[in-house]
Amino acid sequence: AYVWHPFTPMKAWCEEKDILVIARGEREFLFDTHGRRYIDGTSSIWCNVHGHCVPELDAALKAQIDQVAHSTLLGLANVPSVLLARRLVELARGCGLGLDKVFFSDDGSTAVEVACKMAFQYWQNLKTPRTRFIAFQNGYHGDTLGAVSLGGIPAFHHAFQPLCFPVDFVAHLDQVESLLAAQPNQFAAIVLEPLIQGAGGMLLHAAGTLKRLRQLCDQHNVLLIADEVMTGFGRTGKMFACEHDGVTPDLLCLSKGLTAGYMPLGATLATQKIFDAFYADPLEGKTFFHGHTFTGHPLACVVALASLDLFDSTRLLEHVQRMSVILADTLAAARGKPYMFDVRQCGLIGAIELRARDGTPFPYHWRVGGALCRAMRDLQPTGLLMRPLADNVVIMPPLAIREENMRYLCEGVLKTLDATPEIVRRRESGSA
Ligand code: PLP
Repeated sequence: AYVWHPFTPMKAWCEEKDILVIARGEREFLFDTHGRRYIDGTSSIWCNVHGHCVPELDAALKAQIDQVAHSTLLGLANVPSVLLARRLVELARGCGLGLDKVFFSDDGSTAVEVACKMAFQYWQNLKTPRTRFIAFQNGYHGDTLGAVSLGGIPAFHHAFQPLCFPVDFVAHLDQVESLLAAQPNQFAAIVLEPLIQGAGGMLLHAAGTLKRLRQLCDQHNVLLIADEVMTGFGRTGKMFACEHDGVTPDLLCLSKGLTAGYMPLGATLATQKIFDAFYADPLEGKTFFHGHTFTGHPLACVVALASLDLFDSTRLLEHVQRMSVILADTLAAARGKPYMFDVRQCGLIGAIELRARDGTPFPYHWRVGGALCRAMRDLQPTGLLMRPLADNVVIMPPLAIREENMRYLCEGVLKTLDATPEIVRRRESGSA
């Protein structure tokens, strides 16, 4: 009656009789208000890392609450944000990424917003202004207007086009190369989700894309912005997706897994070169005038620090490798299922794409992926909480999911895929 839900057709939502309300969590499980148990198969929208109600993370929050819940970074510092900024720079360097400064914000969208405004002002501060950006078709960077400008998913972004700044969208590297060659000194930055595009449908970039982009950016003196809001913090099997290609972006956007999915927090990491372009006497007008009330929130920062400790003490990245093998076996088995079009994997991200037998997508309103995920919710004895991307079933549990529950999740998905022909038959006959 009161909440307007995100990305949700509210008429259908309000007509739905069986709305799930989550009351509590325990490791990879969520429980609804009736006490029924589910595996969190989407990591609460791709952010949960160690599970829910993790004692070490809860303790860090409780300890900080007894100190101070919030104090601003405008004109003051706070202890957890200082410690976290140092830890993130050290972590990035340990992963081979030469990043030096951390600008905090609130979430993934604002981390991208900051990167894009920094890139824009960087060129102004150098007295060589540039106004254009390059981004990828099917890319997703968040829902604030800067992030929407960079977004390449027509269903989400088209309506807001008149409000957006100019961006050249590309599908592959050849187009980047020709744009850069044809319009020298026009582009402020190239933005991408490294390795894999998330909301666009879990679409993998061709191997080596990031490395080649870095070379092109260096050659043409353009900044590279890596949006690792989804891929950062272990999801791809390494701490950062950029590590796979050994590439340091000029700006790196982080959120989601940064706080293990506990608290909203964004961080934009920058190289010394970027920082130096803003480092001037106030009279020079080079200050970065951007900041949010809750920027560098102490509660979010302490939980991020505690999460990084857990990455080490539980050897979580090794665990992710093991769970990824189970996911790979599952995706291989899914290939034999009816209406299968493609399966894709990157670390602990799995996508199973269903299409009509002739390879065309099902009509949007059939919501085949949605119906499958809805059926997974009712599995016994434990339901699966899944969220499709169109007709892609996405498997993305908390990184720390225990092996027996990973197997249960994967078996549940495979079993439910057998219901696809019945769902398609009902849609074709117009009966549901
Ligand atoms: N960038 C990427 C790659 C994302 O996947 C998302 C969210 O899914 C965002 C940015 C936006 O993050 P937020 O929803 O925290 O604003």
